[in-house]
Amino acid sequence: KKHGKDQLAVFDPAMRASFQKHLEMEADLRRAVLRHEFELRFQPIVRLRTQEISGLEALVRWQHPERGMIPPMEFIPLAEETGMIVPIGEWVLREACRQAARWNAQRDEDTPLTVSVNLSAVQLERADLPQLVSSALQESGLPAKCLIIELTESLLVDHRPETLRRLEAVKALGVRLAIDDFGTGYSSLAYLRNFPVDIIKIDKSFVDDIGDMPAAAALTLGIIQLGQALQLSTIAEGIEHVEQLSELADGNCELGQGYYFAEPLTAAAMDDLLASGSPALSVTPPAPAAAA
Ligand code: C2E
Ligand code: MG
Ligand code: MG
Ligand code: MG
Repeated sequence: KKHGKDQLAVFDPAMRASFQKHLEMEADLRRAVLRHEFELRFQPIVRLRTQEISGLEALVRWQHPERGMIPPMEFIPLAEETGMIVPIGEWVLREACRQAARWNAQRDEDTPLTVSVNLSAVQLERADLPQLVSSALQESGLPAKCLIIELTESLLVDHRPETLRRLEAVKALGVRLAIDDFGTGYSSLAYLRNFPVDIIKIDKSFVDDIGDMPAAAALTLGIIQLGQALQLSTIAEGIEHVEQLSELADGNCELGQGYYFAEPLTAAAMDDLLASGSPALSVTPPAPAAAA
């Protein structure tokens, strides 16, 4: 009030700059969709007992012509806000299925890799989601049992009855559903009851603190046991140290992923890894359990 009402009508320079940047980024993102500037990385998901690769998580990157590689956290929110996550997410799904089918064609039929794809809330709001998933499978030839769709708890928070029906239609194809970042939402248990989930992904924040905080270790073991009781698979996210691996393997966590095994790899690097023929990642075996 003291500065007069004119002062309120104009942007301050910082706000103007941030607004300008937002507009630029939005224009860039539109162009990126047209010019196919997105790439996928694939992070191995490993069977903790044997360290065999059981599947891959597809993670999107934006290869910006001037700014270089942009991580998803820096453009997915804007892509969601502008609706551009729809064409981007469609491309991610088709490309992930295509690559997985290609890798599986070179593997033993008895041990096909799974591919996990992150889905955003905006994609779940679309009535044509089941058709999209079905066409991505058909086009690539990937069996439905090899596809896992990852949903975050935040995505399930304000669900409507259509959302549940849509997820059930996706599941009816034979696709499995995973809850990503499990334990970070404020009503994790309710989702397990209300949604037809097959897999729990234990959030990295629990895994991070396993060695330092008894409470984190207890919670992690509790989540694994909960998964077992409900006959769900558990995947631990963000394993970086051998101690975390030992603790999780001793607690009977089935699967895990993290920099300890491998960072997200380019498709070419994944080609090499899979062509090397070794079923297990060559990392140091976990120390034997003290109590065993
Ligand atoms: P997320 O689905 O929970 O994926 C796991 C993230 O943790 C990935 O980050 C991965 O690179 C990172 N990570 C894996 N192992 C480790 C580790 O040992 N240490 C550390 N510090 N990090 C690890 P990224 O690729 O940057 O992706 C971040 C998030 O962006 C994803 O989290 C997911 O929510 C979202 N995202 C990625 N790709 C897509 C996509 O295609 N569509 C949508 N809607 N979201 C995506
Ligand atoms: Mg994920
Ligand atoms: Mg996660
Ligand atoms: Mg996450």
